[in-house]
Amino acid sequence: MTPTELKQAWLAKWQGMLDDNVYRMGHPEAHRASCRWETRDMLEAGVIDELEKFEMDEQVDAAYWHAVEELATAAEGYMFGGQYDVVHRATSKCIGRITANTYYSASGPGADGFDGKVVGDKPDLRLIFRCNKETWAINGLLLTASSGDLYDLMQTGQVIDGKVYPIICDADTYRALVDSAQVALEEHNFEGYRKARPLLRSARFARCTDCLDHFGWREDCLNCAGQGFIPKAGSQPTSFA
Ligand SMILES: [Zn+2]
Repeated sequence: MTPTELKQAWLAKWQGMLDDNVYRMGHPEAHRASCRWETRDMLEAGVIDELEKFEMDEQVDAAYWHAVEELATAAEGYMFGGQYDVVHRATSKCIGRITANTYYSASGPGADGFDGKVVGDKPDLRLIFRCNKETWAINGLLLTASSGDLYDLMQTGQVIDGKVYPIICDADTYRALVDSAQVALEEHNFEGYRKARPLLRSARFARCTDCLDHFGWREDCLNCAGQGFIPKAGSQPTSFA
């Protein structure tokens, strides 16, 4: 392979990674990191120069900020770093929990230490049980058993950088996080936003759909009483006034 051919092939590979929208929307931080590892390797191999790397990384960053802005207004759904209780909707009984995409039955895990795995990518996510290979579909935060019974995924925590954070149930904490995330978003501060994003998404609150937390509108908003955000359906925040 000539140096020109190598460069063309490597650029095509990188472009393919950049254009992988399913991965980008499902895992924006990981998408950005893997694209940037690629340009780092290309620079080290002498295939691109510093300026080319800079321009390519700028494209990756722009794709990241597009993705997270879109996701900020998207409906909530299963998060790969989330910890969930699995609650039978009809009886409110918790039958188990999911952590690190692994299911553990409340009645004690099986001989292998766990009882199931979450597999697939949105919108085709499934929980597959280990013992009988039964498959339950995951839509948003709703699990449908093969019997047709419905189970809710109630989030209890969120893993960021290997650390478990409890989900935010307190209105003041949520407000402070919304404000700091907004600054990080405007300044394109990747590190700051990367950490705030999963916490905002897993919080017991969501942006008010009437005033959209718009500074000029929320003051008179009846829907959120001027807060700019509202409790998510089915959640019981501890300090929402
Ligand atoms: Zn409002």
